[in-house]
Amino acid sequence: AEIEKDSNLMHIIHVTAEMAPIAKVGGLGDVVTGLARACLSRGHTVDIMLPFYECIQKEEINDLALITTYNSYHDGNWVPTNAYRGVVSGIPVVFIEPSNQFFKGQNVYGGSYNELEAYLFFSRACLEWMQVTGVQADIIHVHEWQTGVIPLLYWDMYQNLSLKKPRIVLTIHNMEHYGECRQEQLSKCGLDGSLYASVDKAVDDRTIGHNPERLSLLKGGIVYSNAVVTVSPTYLKETLCSGWLSSTLINYRDKYFGILNGIDTVMWNPATDVFLPAKFHAQKPEGKKICKYYVQRGLGLMSEGTLAVNHVADIKHDVPLIVCITRLVAQKGLHLITHAIKHTEELGGQLIVLGKASDGRVQKEFEDLVNLHNKGSSIRILLMYSEELSHMLYAAADMVLVPSIYEPCGLAQMIGMRYGAVPVVRKTGGLADTVFDLDDSSNHEKANGFVFEGIDEGSLNWALDRAFAYYRDKPEEWNSIVRKVMEVDNSWNNTAGKYLEIYNSVRVGW
Ligand code: ADP
Repeated sequence: AEIEKDSNLMHIIHVTAEMAPIAKVGGLGDVVTGLARACLSRGHTVDIMLPFYECIQKEEINDLALITTYNSYHDGNWVPTNAYRGVVSGIPVVFIEPSNQFFKGQNVYGGSYNELEAYLFFSRACLEWMQVTGVQADIIHVHEWQTGVIPLLYWDMYQNLSLKKPRIVLTIHNMEHYGECRQEQLSKCGLDGSLYASVDKAVDDRTIGHNPERLSLLKGGIVYSNAVVTVSPTYLKETLCSGWLSSTLINYRDKYFGILNGIDTVMWNPATDVFLPAKFHAQKPEGKKICKYYVQRGLGLMSEGTLAVNHVADIKHDVPLIVCITRLVAQKGLHLITHAIKHTEELGGQLIVLGKASDGRVQKEFEDLVNLHNKGSSIRILLMYSEELSHMLYAAADMVLVPSIYEPCGLAQMIGMRYGAVPVVRKTGGLADTVFDLDDSSNHEKANGFVFEGIDEGSLNWALDRAFAYYRDKPEEWNSIVRKVMEVDNSWNNTAGKYLEIYNSVRVGW
């Protein structure tokens, strides 16, 4: 459908550590790309500023060109820095490349340089680039602790230079990472760190008692931004009730908003997805069966009998296939994922986990599970990051499992739904805002999945058992649920307008 252009056009610059698909680790990358595209298609001017990580595949960038060579301050020196322009997935990007060791390595995170210092450098280098080039956007949209120092630098330094027009919006994607920073580390970006060591600036009141040395870049970002957004209404409530920065957020309640993330429906579209062996959509769902068949076959999840069948149409799709696609960290409910593996096997279903662990102990634990389960015809645990496989798996899945302990928004359940996978989720954060239980009579219209509340194995069993029973006993109804979840509109078109309202409310007319 043609998207109507807005009348009140703005220039928005996102400053971010991640962008899908070239530098994506989790949801942050998806959100930046999806929101940027939605604003672009409404007629706004949007740029994304990203570190030029060494691991970025240059073939994925169109029209890459060096545009500015300048110096940016770090720790007493001016570091020669290059800015490149390019287009990624239709979105203009400015890449910042310092001449030191920052952002070198095989991955977006975890290089051998000091990450905190690298993002402090990057944050200042983005403002310095705006200062040098005279680019004055209406909105600088910063994300997470990595760019949380930008509002401080902007109001206390660059406003005294020549940047006057921009206003700053901060999105908090996950409260767990609050950018712990010592005063002298903060000083490396050119601010006097000691000036920020108070509760009204960058120290959380929970830490000041025992460690006034510890600043939080996220806290500073909250205090100094014109508006602060987090990624779902329920997570907003949760962050106000408990957690590190809750009292700060309560103090700034008037400028704190909860906006549900959308998904990028260009990148995530089963009707056009180049990674799929067969395309499908709600009105024409048959291709999904072929995707399931390909995945089962490709991963050796077929019984002898099924392998002998010549036509996909002849296969009985009576084994429910669940996928769980996630970073393997505590937040995601590791013990529940482990339990789901066991329980799915007991129930005679199939479960594929696609996950990457960053912690050695977790990696080891899941390697053991690989050895225990991957030989059978029920479970596959794939310990890697693969964008391509993730598309295939969402398309193949009957159900998508998201058993998070907490989940600010969660994209897996939304992507899964768009690909016809019925969500089985724990009721927390954005999961509670997007998935409504089919057995909850008060929610009939919205009902689209299976929800459990506890963090114990019994709670998960209860949801999985019901999902399996539904799948097996009520095939007709199941098919209509699949159609229904594919038609749920979790696109950015739906929610980008809320961000634009906030941009509009803080920007200054020029
Ligand atoms: P988070 O931001 O906490 O990682 P989200 O659910 O918001 O969680 O976003 C996760 C995104 O990362 C989704 O697009 C999901 O498909 C993707 N993802 C997570 N793990 C992997 C993996 N191992 N391989 C491919 N994609 C992954």
